[in-house]
Amino acid sequence: MTKTLEKAKTSQDVHHNFIGGEWVKSESGKTFKSLSPANNEIVVGQFADSNAADVKKAVDAAEKAFPEWKKTPAPERAEILFKAAHLLEERKEEIARNMTIEMGKVFKEAKGDVQEAIDMAKYAAGEGRRMWGQTVPSELRNKFAMSIRQPMGVVGVITPWNFPVAIPSWKMLPALVSGNTIVFKPAPETPFVAMQFVQILQEAGLPKGVVNFVTGGGPEVGMPIVEDPRVRAISITGSSVTGRKVAGRCGELMKKISCELGGKNAICLMDDGDVDLAIDGALWGGFGTSGQRCTATSRVIVHKKQYQNFIDGFLARAKALKIGDGLDTTVDVGPVVSKKQLEMINGYVKVGKDEKAKLLLGGEIMTEGDLAKGCFHQPTIFGECNAKMRIAQEEIFGPVVAVIPVDSFQEAIEVANGTEYGLSLSMYTRDVNRAFSAIEEFESGIVYINAPTIGAEIQLPFGGIKQTGNGHREAGITGIEQFTEWKSVYVDYSGTLQRAQIDNYGG
Ligand code: NAD
Repeated sequence: MTKTLEKAKTSQDVHHNFIGGEWVKSESGKTFKSLSPANNEIVVGQFADSNAADVKKAVDAAEKAFPEWKKTPAPERAEILFKAAHLLEERKEEIARNMTIEMGKVFKEAKGDVQEAIDMAKYAAGEGRRMWGQTVPSELRNKFAMSIRQPMGVVGVITPWNFPVAIPSWKMLPALVSGNTIVFKPAPETPFVAMQFVQILQEAGLPKGVVNFVTGGGPEVGMPIVEDPRVRAISITGSSVTGRKVAGRCGELMKKISCELGGKNAICLMDDGDVDLAIDGALWGGFGTSGQRCTATSRVIVHKKQYQNFIDGFLARAKALKIGDGLDTTVDVGPVVSKKQLEMINGYVKVGKDEKAKLLLGGEIMTEGDLAKGCFHQPTIFGECNAKMRIAQEEIFGPVVAVIPVDSFQEAIEVANGTEYGLSLSMYTRDVNRAFSAIEEFESGIVYINAPTIGAEIQLPFGGIKQTGNGHREAGITGIEQFTEWKSVYVDYSGTLQRAQIDNYGG
C-alpha cells in the first residue's frame, strides 16, 4: 500500500531503501529530512542517508534480477508499465499534492508532472511491441543480415528535484521495457514522491530486484553507483557541474552515460511578433515552476521596436502574480525548493545589480508573515541587459528573467546562441521565412515557434547540445537508445565460406 504523506507528516516516519523487493534500513542507520519548501517547519519524512555499502546491496539485487527480467518477453514487461500508468492515473491527485508539499511547484503543475509519467508509461509500454531492429539485404547470396536490441544490464538512474516523478519516468520506464534492471537515486530534496513512484512500479507487478531505490547524497550514493563495475550505463539529469564529474568518471570507466544538464533558454520577440502572446509565454516560461525548469525562459531577447511595449505589459502582468503555497489554487508562483537555492538565486540578483542591469521588478527574498517560514523569492525582471552579463549567461534556476534588447533578427539569433548551453530556444514572429530560419539557425535541442521555451511532449526526443548534454536524447523514439545495445547478426545458410567485400568483387 502506498504510504501517504499525511501519515508521514504526523508520525515523522523513517522511510527506507527499497532493495531486492524489500524496504530495508541503510547500513549506517543515519537519516536525513525532507522539508517542505512552503514551510520548512513541515518535515515531509526522514529518509535513509545511504552510502556505498547500500549501493553495493542494491547492485547485488539488480544483478541477480537481471537474467530473468531480460528473458521476460518485452510485451510482457510492457504490461506492467500499462498497469503502472493506470495506477498513476488513479493516484494522480494524491501524488501531485505530495509533490507540491515536498517540492513546491503549484498543484496544477504538479499534476502535469505526474501526467508526464503517465504519458511516458503508456508510450514506453507501446515500445514493448516494437523495440525495432533492422533487417537489411546482405551483399552475399543465402545470407541474412539483421540487428536486434538487447538490454544493457544493471543501469544507474540519478535524478534532480525539479521534476521528481516525470524525470525518473523518462529514464526508468524506457529502461525497464528494454529489459534492464535499475538502481535509482533520487535527489535528496524530493525522496518522498520518488518513493511513491517506486511503490507504484512495485504494485504494478515488477519482480523483486528489478528496481532498487537508494536515497542519499550525490558523492555518497550517486558516485558509488557510477563506479560499480557491474553498472553498465548511467543516465543522469542535473547541473552541468555534476554532469561533468559523472561523465568524466564514466569516460575513465568506459561506461555509457547520458547527461541532461543545465540551460539558459531564451524567447526571441521580433518586430513583427505578437507582443501579447510573447508576454503570455515569458510569464509562463519565466515564472512557471518558479523558474526551476531546465527549459525555463530565463532570457527574453526583444527587438527594440517592441521593447517598451513588451516591458510595460510584462511588468504589469508579473506584478499581478500571486506568490504563496502551491496548494492554494489561486497561487501562481510557489516557493523555490530550498533555502540554499533561495540564497543562490538572490545572489544572482546582487550580481545583476553589480553588473548595472536595470532591476525592474522584485529582487527580494520574501519574508512577510508565513512566507518567512518557506523559501519564497519575488518574481524578478532585469531590463536593458547586455548579452554578456553573467545574469544573461549563467543558469540561475529561479524566477529571474533578463530582458535583452536587440536591433535585428540576426542579432537575436546570435544572442540566443551566445551561451554555453543549448537546450531550448523560441522565436515569436509572424514571418514564416524567419520562423524557418530560426529553426535552422538556433543552436539548441528544442525549438519553439510562437510558444515559450517550456512545454515538451514525451513523444519527441528531449535534450540539448553544447554544455546541456552529451549527445543523447531522452523520450520519443530515442528514449530506449541509452538503455539498449545494438547487436548485428549475420546468418549464413549457403553452406560455404562466403567472404564479405571479397567474393563478390573479384578478390
Ligand atoms: P544536481 O546536479 O545538484 O543534482 C542532480 C542529481 O545528481 C542529484 O540526485 C544529486 O544528488 C546527484 N549528484 C550530485 N553530485 C553528484 C556526484 N558527484 N556524483 C553522482 N551524483 C551526484 O542538480 P539539481 O540541483 O538536483 O537539479 C537542477 C539542475 O538540473 C539544473 O542545472 C537543471 O538545469 C538541471 N536539469 C536539466 C534537465 C534537462 O533535461 N536538461 C532537466 C531538469 C533539470
